[in-house]
Amino acid sequence: MAYGETQAMTKYEPVIGLEVHVELNTKSKMFCRCSADYFGKEPNTHTCPVCLGLPGALPYTNQQAIDDCIKIGLALNCKISEKSLFERKNYFYPDLPKGYQISQYRWPLTVNGWIEVEGREEIRRIRINRAHQEEDTGKLTHHGGSTLIDFNRSGVPLVEIVTEPDFESVEEIRDYSKKLQQLFRYLGVSNADMERGDMRLEANVSVKREGESELPKYRVELKNINSFRFMVAAVDYEIKRQIEALEIGERLSQETRGWDEDKKCTYLQRSKEEAHDYRYFPEPDLPPFFLDPKKIKEIKNSLPELPWNRAKRYQTKLGIKKNDAQHGRKHKIIPQEIANYLINKKSDINTLLPTQIIEEILDKRVGVIENEEELEKMAKEAMTENPTAVDDFVKGKQQAIQVLIGAVMRRTQGKADAKRAREILEKLLK
Ligand SMILES: [Zn+2]
Repeated sequence: MAYGETQAMTKYEPVIGLEVHVELNTKSKMFCRCSADYFGKEPNTHTCPVCLGLPGALPYTNQQAIDDCIKIGLALNCKISEKSLFERKNYFYPDLPKGYQISQYRWPLTVNGWIEVEGREEIRRIRINRAHQEEDTGKLTHHGGSTLIDFNRSGVPLVEIVTEPDFESVEEIRDYSKKLQQLFRYLGVSNADMERGDMRLEANVSVKREGESELPKYRVELKNINSFRFMVAAVDYEIKRQIEALEIGERLSQETRGWDEDKKCTYLQRSKEEAHDYRYFPEPDLPPFFLDPKKIKEIKNSLPELPWNRAKRYQTKLGIKKNDAQHGRKHKIIPQEIANYLINKKSDINTLLPTQIIEEILDKRVGVIENEEELEKMAKEAMTENPTAVDDFVKGKQQAIQVLIGAVMRRTQGKADAKRAREILEKLLK
């Protein structure tokens, strides 16, 4: 893809890599026994000497978190390292009381994977550099000139997944992020809720002249962006901003930028540190670990069918075309509705085309009874017809209403909206 055809003679290509952080939903934190279920809890109640970084406290590793990280790595076609160890990433900031984060740098748990993503036209492979294990930081809240710190999140297991700078378009970024979110949920390792901060995206963006083989000497890191939509907008904006800067002869530098949703632009947060600024060194309090190939095989066998493999299987074995699968969504038909239709009609799914099913459901909708009076009349009839159900409901047996809804649906030959019918019945029963 080339940007900048309209404003300049020179054509540019974006160079984009993504970093995804995902918080694991393990019971306890990464290096202590504090509960990792911190969301919405009283500040600083999920803490102990280890995650508060008190002198002399020793960390120990959460095995479930390691297994979950391996699961993610395997699903992304990564190689699982035979030997892995933790390192200290040193920096001074109050969100980590130890003065360093326990992370992985030179010996990550899993490396060199790939995933297929769909962009504007074709399906391409994005290389995964690594999926490694680390710990989350505390949460700072800036409040009327002072800053409050909550350490409940400090030490919660976090997996970081880093890609090579292989993305060529924002469409690929969107597809990748959604696939990862789906994966975390399939594997059951995280709720991956962006708004709650379970899953966080960072993009590294730079641009180079079209056809140039060397990577740019700078990169801009887009951070703290908590939705897919904002990330796509931020990357798009950043590509244009950088091209314009290069066009007027400006030099771009290593920096971190955020996204201002009101002004629809990125803004400078700070000049970016280089890896050597963190002075990584092996964590002396945790021994290196050696992964047993038998154990890895076990984990591999325990993986569920991955979402993209399932989609492929549906497409090839069951003959469901991707367009058909999206057809229903386009018309706001939910899977339950399709299931109801197939059960009620006792349809033979081997002969029925998916598009036919959708069309028939839509046809049926055309005749939906919307007249309130008519619906109310039928609801009353249904009630006279089923006095026991009415009695049961009045006595507090909530499910009894199902009998009445069923009676209304039969009278209308399925042309009533079941939700509306329930509302009317509930009103009458009161
Ligand atoms: Zn703790």
